[in-house]
Amino acid sequence: MKLHEYQAKEILSHNNVKVPRGHTIFNISDIDKIKSQLQFPVVVKAQVHSGARGKAGGVKVTHSFDETIDYANSLLGQKLVTHQTGDKGLPINSLLIEEAIDIDKEYYIALTIDGSLSRPVFISSPEGGMDIEAVAEQNPQAILKTSINPSIGIMSFQVREIGAHLNLEDELLTQLQSILTGLYDAFVKNDASLIEINPLVATKDKQLSAADTKFSIDDSSSFRQENIFNIRDKTQEDDLELEAESNGIQNYIKLEGNIGCLVNGAGLAMATMDAIKFSGGEPANFLDIGTANNPESVVAALKIIGSDPDVKAIFINIFGGLARTDIIAEGFVQAKKNGLINQSTVIRLAGTNVEDGKKILIESGIEYKLADGFAEGASLAVKASKN
Ligand code: GDP
Ligand code: MN
Repeated sequence: MKLHEYQAKEILSHNNVKVPRGHTIFNISDIDKIKSQLQFPVVVKAQVHSGARGKAGGVKVTHSFDETIDYANSLLGQKLVTHQTGDKGLPINSLLIEEAIDIDKEYYIALTIDGSLSRPVFISSPEGGMDIEAVAEQNPQAILKTSINPSIGIMSFQVREIGAHLNLEDELLTQLQSILTGLYDAFVKNDASLIEINPLVATKDKQLSAADTKFSIDDSSSFRQENIFNIRDKTQEDDLELEAESNGIQNYIKLEGNIGCLVNGAGLAMATMDAIKFSGGEPANFLDIGTANNPESVVAALKIIGSDPDVKAIFINIFGGLARTDIIAEGFVQAKKNGLINQSTVIRLAGTNVEDGKKILIESGIEYKLADGFAEGASLAVKASKN
């Protein structure tokens, strides 16, 4: 789950990380309430779950109340399209209005999990304010990774190493120490998967301040992070992914292609996407139905795939272990009879109860293509998607 910038900054400020003074508004009339507290210039920032808002026109420094109102009016209720959101963009339902800070230098700091080390890792770069992916590509030596022993936490020598990498003046090192420690505490306490400060700003009067923040929480922690999950903003999330979640399908991720995939097991789902790409197609989604042993969840999954306007063909690829192929077949027949899928469908069934599964398909009289193997299925699905 992602947090908005204003939510992230509130958490960071409670953990000794200095952030610019700001107010969040949800309606244009909210500005009147904070009018007397605004000291211009201010920065007005669209609150959407995306980076690169600046380049997309979602962040602006304004110099008067009227200019602020005009800009706020042009954003609230609209959608912001950035290069990270896709064409549809994300709805702007709130704005963060902050004191503008007098920027001397911009840095990049993030904390995430390094899966290969099973440890938290700080990522730092003196090239702040930029796309970190671009820095990693063009100037990889600008990026320092500092892994943290979770039973100790960040140590002073590591703070000095990061400070030296950022070419930070000595007088800012104490502030860096409290920012990195605070970041680490916030990360652990909230089961974060990523906290990114980009840019971390040094002001002309020698203050380090988190000018922009991204904060993601590990979804597996929802059972013990109730307070955080209560402030989740579902308007920023994909409708089909939300529907999948409400039907108990945790592993549905919408992708860019046009072949809808219904698969059991994350490994088979990955391999299915590879096979589709290998045959010259593009998957429209990742979907792991898991051990779906009731036709209802199969119907729900097919409804989600079928209602995606991007989907031109469907590939059902099941290797039944605990999952039973007859249940999958039953779910497919129901979804088809209820008109939930109109796309041509390729089915490959193997494993548990496969004879029963195939019998259900044959006796249904419904049109579909049966594939013997997995590569054949992928190639038939790619062909169907191009018709
Ligand atoms: P992003 O584009 O979504 O990453 O949004 P940011 O909050 O990082 O804003 C983009 C850029 O706007 C930053 O890299 C800064 O250069 C600039 N910016 C943001 N806040 C301020 C501020 O308070 N003062 C000034 N002068 N520039 C700012
Ligand atoms: Mn930024």
